[in-house]
Amino acid sequence: MGTQVKLKGQGRLFKNPILESFTKSSPLESTISSLGIAVFCIWMGKELGAHFEFWNVFWYFTAGLVFWSLAEYLLHRYVFHLTDENFKGGDRFAYILHGVHHEYPNDAQRTLMPLLPKLIFSTLFFGLFFLILGKAGAFFSAGFLMGYYFYSIMHYSIHRFKAPKFLKPLWEHHHRHHHLEDDKAFGVSSRIWDRLFRTMPSKVKNKSKVAEM
Ligand SMILES: [Zn+2]
Ligand SMILES: [Zn+2]
Ligand SMILES: [Zn+2]
Repeated sequence: MGTQVKLKGQGRLFKNPILESFTKSSPLESTISSLGIAVFCIWMGKELGAHFEFWNVFWYFTAGLVFWSLAEYLLHRYVFHLTDENFKGGDRFAYILHGVHHEYPNDAQRTLMPLLPKLIFSTLFFGLFFLILGKAGAFFSAGFLMGYYFYSIMHYSIHRFKAPKFLKPLWEHHHRHHHLEDDKAFGVSSRIWDRLFRTMPSKVKNKSKVAEM
């Protein structure tokens, strides 16, 4: 990303103060909106006439949840780190979505997705899954969103709290991405895809630098 990491403070995304206010979020807002949209998706599935039976909803939901994990990796690797070299305006695009978080990794208000972009992305993914899977795509969308929610709380915790012992490797994985190699370690809630696609961070002996962040 190239910019100097600032451990305090907040980035400015838009000059317009109203637009700027739409770029911040909190765990409470994120929880309410994620659960709310997920319930709405399931209700939509029922309204659209998808087979509304427990196991049918369950399996589509679970498939969406698992598919999120892959999407989390791919979005982070191929979308969030785009630059002007990829397309004109790429730097700005990636900065708003993700770069601001790299510059100010401890800014709690910019770790979770705010409501407005969440509504936009939810609508786009809902449409995509509906096109591919039909009416039951609504249940898949609900699971996908819950996968996102799980990831986002995890990501938030990584930047706010000390790692519980059994999650230490995940914490370190993400801090390496931030502070040592931003072209490695794209998975946040799991390391499976980094293993599979060979983007595991190198085992550098720079633990002190990682630990202090
Ligand atoms: Zn992060
Ligand atoms: Zn990143
Ligand atoms: Zn960090």
